[in-house]
Amino acid sequence: MPESRVIGRFAPSPTGPLHLGSLLTALAGFLEARSQQGLWLLRFDDLDTPRNQPGAVDAILTTLDTFGLHWDLNVVYQSQHLPDYHDYLSQLANNEQVYRCRCSRKTLNSAIYPGTCRAQTILASEAHAIRIKTNPQVICFTDALQGVIAHDIRAQHGDFILKRKDNIFAYQFAVVIDDALAGVNQVVRGCDLLLETPKQLYLQQLLGLATPRYMHVPVIVDANGQKLSKQSYAAAVDTHNPAQTLYDLLILLKQQPPKKLSLATVNEILTWAITHWQTTPLSAITQLNALSGRT
Ligand SMILES: [Zn+2]
Repeated sequence: MPESRVIGRFAPSPTGPLHLGSLLTALAGFLEARSQQGLWLLRFDDLDTPRNQPGAVDAILTTLDTFGLHWDLNVVYQSQHLPDYHDYLSQLANNEQVYRCRCSRKTLNSAIYPGTCRAQTILASEAHAIRIKTNPQVICFTDALQGVIAHDIRAQHGDFILKRKDNIFAYQFAVVIDDALAGVNQVVRGCDLLLETPKQLYLQQLLGLATPRYMHVPVIVDANGQKLSKQSYAAAVDTHNPAQTLYDLLILLKQQPPKKLSLATVNEILTWAITHWQTTPLSAITQLNALSGRT
């Protein structure tokens, strides 16, 4: 595969069916990849096992299929990568870039961990999380829609967790490895993850992994300005009229589809959308208001 080929991905958690917000992210990522003749991969972020819901994987696959969002290659599951996470964690441990932390959430008052356990000896047999040692360093990247993001990793994020006390690998750590293993060079996802991205760049630098191009698309909010999420019980996408929903999502994504396209099939709508995909109208927009009563 030539290195210049765009490789994008969609990485839902199987914690419930897709809601309109996650479908919008999937559509934007699909169009961004396909408009550059790129691959679009599908990966299930299934590490947070207590939150996984039986049947969610099948429901998500069916929904993507219904909306014509066909992925390339085999579906990947994060749980297949556990040996890789262990290898990379060993690499960091060998370089003394991580340490054990036995603090509980209750004892930590601030959101930014003060590094309490850095200098302590904590046995492997004690319940502990694994944290990365952060250095005072500015991590900077240019998001394709949201512009320049620059964070002092130590001051703004502190020594963040790579592996939780319950032995579950943290999202930040897992995704940089997943993306690297699959050769993903373009990450399109919701703006709610924008300010977490510097942590991932920091890890990529430490692990010697390439940094993909990032595009954080606006998230759909409800009438109260809250992001649609499974946690807030956002309704599953209505799959009865996928063409109409796709058309509405293109309007929401400011693609200005022609009126006559509202009568087209799913494939016709996607073909038009791939050809006409433009991201400029979404620049610096972080939120979109849900379509009331239409989907
Ligand atoms: Zn600690």
